[in-house]
Amino acid sequence: MSGDDHDHDHDHHDHDDHHDHDDHSDVPPDVALRAKALFSLLADKGIVDPDGVDRIVEAYEHRVGPHLGAKVVARAWVDEGYRQRLLADGTAAVQELGIGGWRDGSRLVAVENRADVHNVVVCTLCSCYPLPLLGVPPVWYKSAPYRSRVVMDPRGVLAEFGTEVDPGVEVRVWDSNSEVRYLVVPQRPAGTEGMSEDELAALVGRNAMIGVERVTVTPGDVAG
Ligand code: FE
Repeated sequence: MSGDDHDHDHDHHDHDDHHDHDDHSDVPPDVALRAKALFSLLADKGIVDPDGVDRIVEAYEHRVGPHLGAKVVARAWVDEGYRQRLLADGTAAVQELGIGGWRDGSRLVAVENRADVHNVVVCTLCSCYPLPLLGVPPVWYKSAPYRSRVVMDPRGVLAEFGTEVDPGVEVRVWDSNSEVRYLVVPQRPAGTEGMSEDELAALVGRNAMIGVERVTVTPGDVAG
């Protein structure tokens, strides 16, 4: 599995980061404080159930995560019919694998990397992200520098993630919004022909599904 190098915040999220899903990320401290006060008040009055909120947060931090997106990618790699359905209607195709939860009414669009096209995803306005497939977005995805720079200089940003894109390869930057969330289907690496779907899924990291990295395979992965 590749891909967590750029996420320095993986295991110490503050709960308040999650109550507003993936929008409105750079929350000023006074807003965070007000949210906390409001939450306490609602809990005291019995209007919200803190345990219920904790369960939702727990789900997005642990049960929902990039392993779900990886399952989708691996299925697309081994099943041509599924690949076509995924590219035609991402929301329906992931629902086939039991992945729903697009409660905000957004739909999923899958974009496929090819020899001549590299896709990368951003939300320039805030931090829209395919939560049901990838869980909570990494901190850098929500950062202002990533959001602005990946549009102005996608190749430069990709290079910082260690992803050199040949000048002959077109880079497409997809701007997520409240209606459309994107999943990058990375290229299946060479040398994985004998691997099972589960083994393939284990290779697919979050960053590859955002498009800032490729899926790579090491001899150990093949042997395993
Ligand atoms: Fe957004």
